[in-house]
Amino acid sequence: MSQTALAESTRIVLTGVRNAGKSSLMNNLFEKDSAIVSDTPGTTTDPVTRKIELGKLGPCAVTDTAGFDDVGELGEQRVSKTRERLKSADLVLFVTPGDRPVLSEEKEILEALEEGKQPWIGVVTFGDKALHGEKEGFFPTGKFLVLNNEEKHSARPLINMMEKRAEQLSREITPVEGLVKEQDLVLLVTPIDLAAPAGRLIMPQVETIRDLLDRDCAALILKERELFSFYNNLGIKPSLVITDSQAFHKVAADIPEDQPLTSFSLLFARKKGNPAYFIESLKALNNFPEKGRVLVMESCSHHRQADDLGTVKIPRLFRQLVGAQVEFGHSRKMPENPEEWDMIIHCAACMITQKAMLAKLDVFREKGIPVLNYGLFLAWANGLLPRALEPFPELAELYE
Ligand code: SF4
Repeated sequence: MSQTALAESTRIVLTGVRNAGKSSLMNNLFEKDSAIVSDTPGTTTDPVTRKIELGKLGPCAVTDTAGFDDVGELGEQRVSKTRERLKSADLVLFVTPGDRPVLSEEKEILEALEEGKQPWIGVVTFGDKALHGEKEGFFPTGKFLVLNNEEKHSARPLINMMEKRAEQLSREITPVEGLVKEQDLVLLVTPIDLAAPAGRLIMPQVETIRDLLDRDCAALILKERELFSFYNNLGIKPSLVITDSQAFHKVAADIPEDQPLTSFSLLFARKKGNPAYFIESLKALNNFPEKGRVLVMESCSHHRQADDLGTVKIPRLFRQLVGAQVEFGHSRKMPENPEEWDMIIHCAACMITQKAMLAKLDVFREKGIPVLNYGLFLAWANGLLPRALEPFPELAELYE
């Protein structure tokens, strides 16, 4: 278990207000004192993750989080960490003390879980005490159970319930899943230009590196300017080259044609979105309305540079290749009237869960609105899409 990559585990996150019994539940699940338990609110200050093999769920990473009602400046930071953990959870255990009234923070958690279409199970703790009237009917029937953490093995019914939900849990694919094997060398090309954040790499690059290390591969990282000479002096052929989409053209020109190549953005089209729908959507570029409207969507705010990808480069390329009079809009939120747009071009969505991204895609699909992601559009615009899709035979076939 200790060798199972975190990325390959089912991620279970315990959430709830302070002193709801989350840490006791964690101990119950592991049947030992792995989390500090006390009656003082706020004992768990930072998320604590432990691994466990849970029957049909297989390897699981269970995270105990700080209370959702934590206070003060540090408390707010902890709540923000908890929110992050919730976004990436495969299954949430929403823990609430049965003997206390419903808090506004608990209503907020429930709303967020329902909105995010996240699988969750309600756990009503302090089952040995009388149920508070406000807790009756708080959770929908069949979506919760009551347990007493003081009783040994009392988490067993919960584990049974989690196992029953196992089939409904869809784990997000990891960036290089199915693309590499142990001992592979993978070359990552990451331009460090004005758009790169100061002092760090962006999330898709970090996640890919971590996934490669988890899979016992070697990751070699360099900028596009160093690629040509480095590649030719390397002495061994990398199993795969993964580039930032913006450097696709140069990278493809600098390495041999038989070198497998793809982009971070395509890895994330597969990880977060629905690549088959993205590819199907390419057809819309062939007869795009002359004065059509394209909405460029991003999932987080970031500092924009002069030659920003979403607001400058993509619109410029689109107007050059598809239609000079096409109108562009930009948004981080779902549009109120999606049917006003003829196409959506979405970022790699690295900051949101696949579930959240698929929920967005469903809205556009239902209305017949084509959706591309940045990497797919840039590979297409550079005439490199067939090559970028080679590492994914089923997508390459669909494109053909
Ligand atoms: S969510 Fe989108 S805009 Fe934000 S960093 Fe990831 S790819 Fe970029």
